[in-house]
Amino acid sequence: MLFLDRADMDKRFRVLRQELVERPTSNELRGWSYEAPPIKPLSTSLRFGVGELASRYCETLRDIYLRRILGVKPPPSFKMARGIAFHEVMKAALFDIKRFIYEDLSSGGKGLLASLLPRSESIGFDAVERAEAALGSRLGEEDRRLVASGCSNLYEFLVIQGAAALDRTLSKYPHAEPDSVVNAAVPPVSERKVDGSLVGLSGELSVDIYTPYNAIADVKTGEVRSFHPLTLAGYALALESEEGIPVDFGFIIYVKLEKRVPSFTIKPLIVGDEVRREFLEVRDEAYQIITSGRDPGKPSRCPSFCPYYAVCEGGGV
Ligand code: SF4
Repeated sequence: MLFLDRADMDKRFRVLRQELVERPTSNELRGWSYEAPPIKPLSTSLRFGVGELASRYCETLRDIYLRRILGVKPPPSFKMARGIAFHEVMKAALFDIKRFIYEDLSSGGKGLLASLLPRSESIGFDAVERAEAALGSRLGEEDRRLVASGCSNLYEFLVIQGAAALDRTLSKYPHAEPDSVVNAAVPPVSERKVDGSLVGLSGELSVDIYTPYNAIADVKTGEVRSFHPLTLAGYALALESEEGIPVDFGFIIYVKLEKRVPSFTIKPLIVGDEVRREFLEVRDEAYQIITSGRDPGKPSRCPSFCPYYAVCEGGGV
């Protein structure tokens, strides 16, 4: 599955399953229990993005107050642009690989490389432009070049992995039809759309990757932060509410592009009671802030990497 190695995943799942047997997730904290607290949202009309709740840079949730009550957006930054651009590249690579398999399966991995690798540079710059459009702001020339070159490298890496996965699949199943090959060689779903409205979340969430193990994955491009597991809790609750199936496992995939070949660190975890409760508490607290319109104030110390740092500490608000 491109950057998720099947054998490695299987080993990690064995460990996680054992942990889950020891600490099973409570039924009352499953997304399908949306008709009763603590899952039931305080309002069905006020909905949140998972990232909005889970990106807990700010302990007091002042970021929610700034965005929702005062309408202040965090100033666009290099890191934000990089994150958006990398996600665009992953989406483009998976789409291109799948399309190639449907259109030209017999050319195999070599054909895929010949067809897609020449696109890497333009994909990199396209991704930067999309990120700039999403943020409504343009990066400086040096930053644009840096992000675009990282994006091209990531695209090339994914295409090379896709070519190898394609050849492995064709060699094992020489008579497989394109649809079966796509299923075997490429992650089954990327950017899985989920309606989270039953649990107080947006009606059109996007989960980065949804694997056959009923596990979800979220891809991060920045530093490791302690609040990252909250994202998985939000998506697990939304998926459970929509599908009625348990989502017990999650992965946070950290992508680093400091060298020519990107590196991936995978953090597997159980989406258990503790992180679900924490996510729901943030959701309900955010609701209280918005309905009361009160400023929750600053925490005792603001992390300098908070996206609102320049706003709160620079005297903006
Ligand atoms: S700068 Fe401080 S108060 Fe403002 S959102 Fe960030 S952590 Fe909260």
